Amino acid sequence: MDIASGIASIQLALDLSKGIKASKDLMNNGEVNLQIIELMEALVDAKGGLVEAKNQIVDKDKLIMELQKKLKVSSNIFDKDNSPFVWMKNKEEKDIAYCSKCYAKDGILAKVMNDRPMQNLGTHQCPVCESWFGKKKDPQSELDKAFGDVFGK
Ligand SMILES: [Zn+2]
Repeated sequence: MDIASGIASIQLALDLSKGIKASKDLMNNGEVNLQIIELMEALVDAKGGLVEAKNQIVDKDKLIMELQKKLKVSSNIFDKDNSPFVWMKNKEEKDIAYCSKCYAKDGILAKVMNDRPMQNLGTHQCPVCESWFGKKKDPQSELDKAFGDVFGK
């Protein structure tokens, strides 16, 4: 018997006991009347317990689904030498870089971006935790290098 059927059975027993309690012959018997009230209280408690158990199972099913999702991700994540990112292949088998901080903290896969070169705080930024990765460019050494390329040194 599953929990929903258990709840339905208890509800039926509760309805039956209400019917018995409504019987005039039994109402005149104080002892029987008291026992029926106790029976109804016990059935209400049992029904409440089953409803609570059902809700706990629903919550646990949700948790299991989340964990299965994370497990699938973690089995596909890999590191690359000297890379500050975690990597996973996309559908086209291309390696995609994700923020290692967000992954370590919350298991989140946040794709790092390199679309803000003017800010010069690193090469890549995480859109979620806003951490920067990679080396900043040194404008002076870039200039020196460009001069060296043009004029020789
Ligand atoms: Zn991040």
